[in-house]
Amino acid sequence: MGLLALGTPLDWPEAKKKADQVRQWGIEQLLANWQRCKGKERDALLWGDEVEYLVVALDDAAKKARLSLAQADILESLARDEALWQAGSSANDKGEHAGEQPPHFHPEFGRFMLEATPGSPWGIGFKDLLKVESNMKWRREVAKAHMAPNESPITMTTYPRLGTNDYTQPYYPPSGTAFRSQFVPDQIANPHIRFPTLAANIRSRRGRKVELNVPIFKDVNTPVPFKDPTVNYDLHLWPEDDDVRNGAAKDDHVYMDAMAFGMGSCCLQITFQAKNMTEGRMMYDQLSPLGPILLALTAATPIYKGFLVDTDVRWNQIGNSVDDRTREELGEAPLANDRWSIPKSRYASNSTYISQDPRLRKEYLDPDLVIDEDIKKRLMDGGMDDLLATHFAHLFIRDPLVIFSEDLEKLDLNQGDHFENLQSTNWQHMRFKPPPSDKDDIGWRVEFRPMEIQITDFENAAFCIFLVLITRAILSFDLNFYIPIQRTTENMETAHKRNAVLDSKFYFRKDPFPRRVHRSNGNGASSGANTPPPSPPLNPVETEYELMTISDIMNGSTDGSFPGLIPLVESYLNSLNVDVETRCSLASYLDLIRKRADGTLWTGARWIREFVAKHPAYKQDSVVSDEINYDLVKAVEEITAKEGRDGSVGWEMLRGKKN
Ligand code: GLU
Ligand code: MG
Repeated sequence: MGLLALGTPLDWPEAKKKADQVRQWGIEQLLANWQRCKGKERDALLWGDEVEYLVVALDDAAKKARLSLAQADILESLARDEALWQAGSSANDKGEHAGEQPPHFHPEFGRFMLEATPGSPWGIGFKDLLKVESNMKWRREVAKAHMAPNESPITMTTYPRLGTNDYTQPYYPPSGTAFRSQFVPDQIANPHIRFPTLAANIRSRRGRKVELNVPIFKDVNTPVPFKDPTVNYDLHLWPEDDDVRNGAAKDDHVYMDAMAFGMGSCCLQITFQAKNMTEGRMMYDQLSPLGPILLALTAATPIYKGFLVDTDVRWNQIGNSVDDRTREELGEAPLANDRWSIPKSRYASNSTYISQDPRLRKEYLDPDLVIDEDIKKRLMDGGMDDLLATHFAHLFIRDPLVIFSEDLEKLDLNQGDHFENLQSTNWQHMRFKPPPSDKDDIGWRVEFRPMEIQITDFENAAFCIFLVLITRAILSFDLNFYIPIQRTTENMETAHKRNAVLDSKFYFRKDPFPRRVHRSNGNGASSGANTPPPSPPLNPVETEYELMTISDIMNGSTDGSFPGLIPLVESYLNSLNVDVETRCSLASYLDLIRKRADGTLWTGARWIREFVAKHPAYKQDSVVSDEINYDLVKAVEEITAKEGRDGSVGWEMLRGKKN
């Protein structure tokens, strides 16, 4: 999650004083880079996926699962092996992966997390799509080989008992100077100075601890009202201990108070390289409305801090875990010191469109978007167009959170560090990435960020493959998914509801096919016999979209009015010469998504809920005890370690395929 530069980080009041300088330098770096790269053309649609893991340590004798905090050792060992590999002498260079680049492993926020990417980007060909699943399995094997025998990488979004008792190895009691949490120690975060500084500066800027209140799932024996029994109202170690006495923990909610409860979650991300900036901007806009749909389809987060909750996804919890807005910015106090009231956290769905697309109607944009007008003016004076300048002037309403004093000595326009400082701490569901200043081979990229990590690699591969294919279909058929951006924000909330994938409806554009839009010839006058007839007038925006179920959106509506994204992908495949074998393999992945959308297969969230509900130790009181947690984590670990083995846990409901 961002750059790991080193230096002397500034504590909050000091960092705040330098915020304008960092923003200004960031904008100058952006402009210089944009001038250099705006005409850059690169291979279309190279792409890459990122898988995030939790590292668990299982004590089978004691029937106890814990999070392992061995990230640094594991990464060091992996890096050593990768070096051996490059030198041609790694023991892993064998079998079906001979000749492939070894996977890359990266640190993540949690000291119990790892991230892995393929060794080189995936290409445009369909054959590459068929390598994704085995490459993901390989990553897991390589990671596992560098862990203690009882440790494993698992792909649950959150650790079900994070923040309870005795859930890490080694154990550290709360609390530390960075989080000041009553539930988690600072040692739970990656010790690289960037992470504790990020957490501490978010808390300081905000003026109190972050606040996560997730509605409890009300089972028959859940107390009414539910008052989180783990909250301690009697602590007097930090000023922030007053938060709970001031009402931070809400009735009927599970209360959490640290960045680790959000940024300790795992997701599945995909980055596409576009052939040029124009195509990248188009992909950014067209994939944006798909965000909440894919969030609901991948839902896998029904447990927090040992309790079943009434939401299915991680998204808002991460948003709240990094929400550095002050009371003024939150609209809880009149503006006196801050510049704006800001409707969303830094981690949230994106708020504006950026493509210079004639189909982008001004009604799709948010008239209340908060932007820094001075920054927008500087960007436009530097030659950037209104839409893109607006996008960056919106991202740059935030303060930089981690500033190293060494970096403030001289502005280097050939670098992108100050720009990246703001860009990489705007965690929106889509990210538009200019080419890095120091890597000539990389073009304009778009990152798709909302999806939850899936328990099995078959599922993870299926969602990557679907996203690649729908992106190809969008470009090939010139599909149009524009809806007003505020509807996407609403859809994102809807995606949180328990079982939203089957029970909720989402705003979606009714007609995705291109309409004959005719660009004017510049002076607005008709230019003779070859001029196409004028476009029919546009209908009111509200008539362009409606509420649909995810099954309608993915599989097509029963009345045939909406074609469905999977059938669109299939038409795209039909329009090409794809050999039968490849076609069949792709179909099995698409089938998973089709069945997930119509309820034949379950989301991870549903599977986990069923697992807990059926567990003999579950008392129907929403509590996920140590014992249940061990069995759940063990089942997840077995599914992935022996993917293909028919276990007793009904996991075929997740993936619909027995090997
Ligand atoms: N783990 C975060 C999530 O679940 C994303 C961190 C990153 O951007 O790499 O969304
Ligand atoms: Mg990551």
